[in-house]
Amino acid sequence: MNDLAQLRSRLDGDCLIPGDADYDTVRRPADLAHQDVRPKLVIRCRSAADVVLGVGYARDTGTPVVPRGGGHCFAGRSSTEGVVLDLSGLDAVAVTGGTAVIGAGARLAQVYTALHAQDRTIPAGCGATVGIAGLALGGGIGLLGRSHGLTCDRLTGAQVVFADGSVADCDADREPDLFWALRGAGGGQFGVVVSLVFDTVPEPVATRFALRWRRPPLADLIAAWQDWAPDAPDAITADLALTAGDPPEAVCFGASLLDERSTRNLLQAFCVAVGAAPDIDVHGGMAFNRLKRSFEDLEESNEAGTVLRQRSAFFADPLRSSTIEELAGGLSDPAAPRRRLNFTAMGGAYNRVPVAATAFAHRSARFMLQHVAPTADPWIDRSWERAYGVSSKGVYPNFPDPLLPDWATAYHGANLARLRAVKRAYDPDRCFTFPQSL
Ligand SMILES: Cc1cc2nc3c(=O)[nH]c(=O)nc-3n(C[C@H](O)[C@H](O)[C@H](O)COP(=O)(O)OP(=O)(O)OC[C@H]3O[C@@H](n4cnc5c(N)ncnc54)[C@H](O)[C@@H]3O)c2cc1C
Repeated sequence: MNDLAQLRSRLDGDCLIPGDADYDTVRRPADLAHQDVRPKLVIRCRSAADVVLGVGYARDTGTPVVPRGGGHCFAGRSSTEGVVLDLSGLDAVAVTGGTAVIGAGARLAQVYTALHAQDRTIPAGCGATVGIAGLALGGGIGLLGRSHGLTCDRLTGAQVVFADGSVADCDADREPDLFWALRGAGGGQFGVVVSLVFDTVPEPVATRFALRWRRPPLADLIAAWQDWAPDAPDAITADLALTAGDPPEAVCFGASLLDERSTRNLLQAFCVAVGAAPDIDVHGGMAFNRLKRSFEDLEESNEAGTVLRQRSAFFADPLRSSTIEELAGGLSDPAAPRRRLNFTAMGGAYNRVPVAATAFAHRSARFMLQHVAPTADPWIDRSWERAYGVSSKGVYPNFPDPLLPDWATAYHGANLARLRAVKRAYDPDRCFTFPQSL
């Protein structure tokens, strides 16, 4: 189909072109860095049939097409000057027993709330407006991950629209190679996912904690954290966020499935290893949904004003003290208050899945380190390069980095060859493409 009027008449949803009243609102992704891209057409899909029509229109008119969930892609991959398939209208969450069928346009806050109503949850990320599909297709790291694995480890099926307009349900038995690839290769690679099926877990009652140091000994803190958090009991996830300033800010925060007293004991031992006492805030007995929401103030994103840039890497081995000193030194400039290092604890259930079992290639990581800073700050490249040199050279597909030199192996590691074969089989004409796509 190549006629816009005909497309419009057949859609359950609607489509917007430049000049339409809502166009300027709808065309913008959540990420501020990519607000200037002006699509030829934005289709607000209301059904899988709309996705088929949108893909068909793009194919027949030779126009690039991208799916958009939450619109948070750091590399702007859900924006195009062609056709944006806005899936936010496909956001139903249906829970039957332990199984949840979730529309690809649902956002995380919505997912957690709907599952909470049935006393269920899934291990998934932070970021209330992050899209479930974007998150799960690239992995999905979060506060329950050390006990329950990645979001994609709980995925049991998906419905996908391909470039030729065909639709398939995939799972361990049907289209198993595609199902394997959807679990960790990153979004937008093979087709448009319209719904996802998850094996949920009972929603835990958890203990929330946040430790804040007034004058943080940054190097000692990093050293003690990397020795403790990746090897801590699976039940506890403790991440570390360090922000430049005078003095710098340091917060170690997370969730524990242990009771308040046992959690406090573990945190006390960590504080002794740091050698400096923080303000300790520990609350037991919280429904996980509430605990998640309580950390929203710690999230920094490109929705908030200044345009930020990020670069990251996984680490399989502890950092040496010389690297730690350099990382800490980069945060001592009081004139650069938005520089930030985020350390995310891996290990536990993440690493009990064999690397070949899903497309997610980073199953031996101890932790991930993310550098964040305003776009123009050159510190980020200097500091990241120093750290990347001693990292496992692996990068999370959901934290895409357009400057990454060895991006294919960095994102996909040992799974790269099989992923390329799946790409050839399911998207032979490369309808779904972007810089650094398979
Ligand atoms: C505030 C914030 C907090 C975050 N916290 C976490 C976290 O705790 N853990 C974590 O793991 N990650 C986290 N992330 C990163 C997040 O996982 C990625 O940015 C993710 O790709 C965003 O998905 P989206 O749907 O919002 O973005 P989009 O830009 O809509 O999509 C991302 C990619 O997936 C593709 N895509 C989207 N929907 C579909 C679909 N239905 N079918 C096929 N392809 C699709 C897009 O085309 C694009 O390539 C965070 C990001 C932000 C901004």
